[in-house]
Amino acid sequence: MKRKGIIIVVSGFSGAGKGTLMKELIRKYDNYALSVSATTRDPRPGEENGREYFFVSNEEFEKLIKENGLIEHAGYVNHYYGTPRKFVEDKLSQGIDVILEIEIQGALQIKEQYPDAVLLFVMPPSATELKNRLVGRGTETEEVIAQRLSRAKEESVGIEKYDYIVINDDLGQCVDKVHQIIDAAHYSPLRNLDFIDTIRKQLNEI
Ligand code: ADP
Ligand code: 5GP
Repeated sequence: MKRKGIIIVVSGFSGAGKGTLMKELIRKYDNYALSVSATTRDPRPGEENGREYFFVSNEEFEKLIKENGLIEHAGYVNHYYGTPRKFVEDKLSQGIDVILEIEIQGALQIKEQYPDAVLLFVMPPSATELKNRLVGRGTETEEVIAQRLSRAKEESVGIEKYDYIVINDDLGQCVDKVHQIIDAAHYSPLRNLDFIDTIRKQLNEI
């Protein structure tokens, strides 16, 4: 049975720990490809163009949209974010699972275009811990933190649309859980229709 690459969408409130979790997942398990998004927001200290994001101007972003260069895009707290098409399609065709760390509007656009995508939502252990992590990260102003917490309230309404939730309390345990969920998804009948069809044909011929 040849394993097909699937898209894994990872969403979660700002500060829940998605970035930290994905870095650790890639470090521990080497079978995933992490998509690098384009964004119009400024880099945070330590972020590098092409590693965390492709940092682009509004004009460059709008050009990407026009050229159909993105498989989804959305606005988030005054900025554009989007997933470049080529990387994702290349990896899927090579049978490699691709992780998209994106927000909910983008996640729903992906589910429409790629119905076998797995949608995963990362939860903090509590709202207080979420705020502590956002403040502790020290990369946003008080005003932006307030906007992101308010956005979290809006996003919490859509969580039921996801396939799974994981709680990022102990980082190591959460990473293993994410890996197990992705692995299990590969064994669902709908993601193995070609193999099922092959066996049916063989049964008819035997
Ligand atoms: P996101 O990408 O979801 O916005 P980050 O990965 O930047 O979140 O994490 C936000 C902050 O929380 C960072 O300072 C990070 O070090 C911290 N953090 C992430 N996961 C955990 C965890 N399991 N326990 C404690 N702190 C964490
Ligand atoms: P941040 O500015 O904290 O890096 O990201 C803000 C939000 O944008 C997060 O919820 C993150 O998951 C989301 N995001 C990052 N890249 C993309 C993308 O390509 N598309 C969409 N729709 N959301 C993204």
